[in-house]
Amino acid sequence: MPEQVNCQKEDSVTQSDLNESYEEEVRAFLSDEEKLHLFDDLTKVNPVTTTTVLKCLQARYNVNLFYTNAGCSLVALNPFQPISCLYSPELMREYHVAVRPQDLKPHIYTVAEEAYRNVQSQMDPMNQSIIVSGESGAGKTWTSRCLMKFYASVAASVTSSKGNEAVERIEKRVLDSNPIMEAFGNACTLRNNNSSRFGKYIQLHLDRFHHLSSASIQTFLLEKTRVAYQAPSERNFHIFYQITKGATAEERQEWNLPEGADYRWLPNSERNLEEDCFEVTRDAMLHLGIDCSTQNNIFKVLSGLLHLGNVQFSNPLDESQPCELEDEAKDSVKTAGDLLKIPVEMLLESLRIRTITAGKQQQVFKKPCSRTECDTRRDCLAKLIYAKLFEWLVLVINESIYADTSLWTSFIGLLDVYGFEAFPENNLEQLCINYANEKLQQHFVAHYLKAQQEEYASEGLQWSFINYQDNQSCLDLIEGSPLSIFSLLNEECRLNRSSNPDLFQTRIEKALSDNQCLSRDKFSKKPNFIVSHYAGKVCYQLAAMVEKNKSSLENLMHILNSTKPHYIRCIKPNADCKAMTFRKEEVLSQLQACGIVEAITISAAGFPIRISFQSFTDRYEILRKSHRSSKKSTCDENNDNTAKKKEETAAVDDSKASRSVVVEILENVTGQTATEP
Ligand code: ADP
Ligand code: MG
Repeated sequence: MPEQVNCQKEDSVTQSDLNESYEEEVRAFLSDEEKLHLFDDLTKVNPVTTTTVLKCLQARYNVNLFYTNAGCSLVALNPFQPISCLYSPELMREYHVAVRPQDLKPHIYTVAEEAYRNVQSQMDPMNQSIIVSGESGAGKTWTSRCLMKFYASVAASVTSSKGNEAVERIEKRVLDSNPIMEAFGNACTLRNNNSSRFGKYIQLHLDRFHHLSSASIQTFLLEKTRVAYQAPSERNFHIFYQITKGATAEERQEWNLPEGADYRWLPNSERNLEEDCFEVTRDAMLHLGIDCSTQNNIFKVLSGLLHLGNVQFSNPLDESQPCELEDEAKDSVKTAGDLLKIPVEMLLESLRIRTITAGKQQQVFKKPCSRTECDTRRDCLAKLIYAKLFEWLVLVINESIYADTSLWTSFIGLLDVYGFEAFPENNLEQLCINYANEKLQQHFVAHYLKAQQEEYASEGLQWSFINYQDNQSCLDLIEGSPLSIFSLLNEECRLNRSSNPDLFQTRIEKALSDNQCLSRDKFSKKPNFIVSHYAGKVCYQLAAMVEKNKSSLENLMHILNSTKPHYIRCIKPNADCKAMTFRKEEVLSQLQACGIVEAITISAAGFPIRISFQSFTDRYEILRKSHRSSKKSTCDENNDNTAKKKEETAAVDDSKASRSVVVEILENVTGQTATEP
């Protein structure tokens, strides 16, 4: 029997004795510095504490070992510099052909290969998902890209699924979706020069020969406010810089982008990034079937948005009149109208005049907007156009990579969501992002921390429950029914009442005061509320929460719940994105935030392999004493075996009996006497 773990503390030992001996154990473990990097599985660390785990990770990082197993998760430390051969085709192959990839060094390829083998399993085939999480800049997108390359290589399609030579092979198209999505959905932020400003779930569909035959992409929570507002030192989406830097002379003329022109929505364009390369995006679009003329139209729309950003209003002398435009702004509005194919008068009217329908007769009134309202309307229009364009692009990409369900039988899903965010000022976007992370954490808690311990309890194993942070009450606060922040926010939007944040603050506090995850920054003059997330407290400003929210996560959670999950926890070893710099405090807070130490503790204290009695006896029955002796001694094997088989099958059906079979097999293998659980 595997060594059974007894986590119960003995009564005769005092707490201070325990603390002392525990600290001694920690000291003893850490004293052998030379060996710390050898722990490629954190469940083997003894004792499991944040200190010992942290020390091992640091020791490994110092000798270029960036991946470490941690129970059901893989910890991935970002080296912030290319590491030669870490993702070579040869290495992919090595993991792919290995008899036991888990015996090789921990790698994302181990996880990828395991998921790939699981979908092919004869015994228990199941769709798989790999959930890549971590804070901004930790390496989620990089990891997802590497996983996609892995599958594009090991599960390469045999022929083009559309059977048309002119169409790029499916794996090339799937990989080409990356530069397009990143150009339109990523931006340079304070924390990551190539930060994804949307969440992405990509499904790689495999046919019955386990070859890649199709794929689909689902995106969520695009940070569309970035089109019209960029925080200091941050930038707009990469694509805007690509077109202004990379357009040819004729295109500049056609798109009205003269060299050196200034755009209010294009800050920090003097910074040249690798991601500014227009050519890569264009090529990828072409490979996915977006022809030059369609591309031309897309880039015209984007130029139109840049000109729209330069439309500035001033208050009119007579308040009954619409806001006025400076001369330069008049040119901008005309150019924006031309490029967006909106008649200038219509554009101006929609930006400056509010239409109100009221009364029994549904009378229509027109009212000039204030300057602030005009600004808001301009920004909203830009956000709306950009979000629609993004949505359309995802649709086109999906058309290019998706094949009929009859052509595939299983899938591996890769989830890359942007990590938990807490800024000095947080609004609806952050609430939605953190809510998404909260949901994923719950998925982890439910699938791992909760489920595994409950399984031990139901199996009657001696086990004392290891505490973990259950984030259900935080989720109740955000999305619960009937009352939650989202439901109240929806109501505000529906009733168009959100213009009074103070009142809304009172309403939230009154309705949700019972939930301990809610509090308020009493020292702030601005109306706000604080949510205690699993990863820390975040203070949200209410004034900015005017947009209608929709969080589209239910569907995703539904899909994830039907798959076998694998977790890759990306860790950012330092906030400055410096190569080979490991800051303990920063790593520690990330480890704590995702509950990884609890997960390691549970895995370390638990059984490394868990299979059902039925599968175990099916697989190892041959090792039974009675099975072997019957083979040796019986002359009339055939007759006897049939009878025995029947007998054994009946025994296997009975759970109690099958436990005895397990015990017998284990005794045979280990030569020791095992006690029945
Ligand atoms: P996230 O998606 O978590 O915000 P990214 O995947 O964009 O973070 O990674 C941020 C940056 O870190 C990348 O642009 C890259 O420079 C670097 N990086 C991440 N993972 C690796 C890696 N495994 N090897 C080398 N550099 C990496
Ligand atoms: Mg990213």
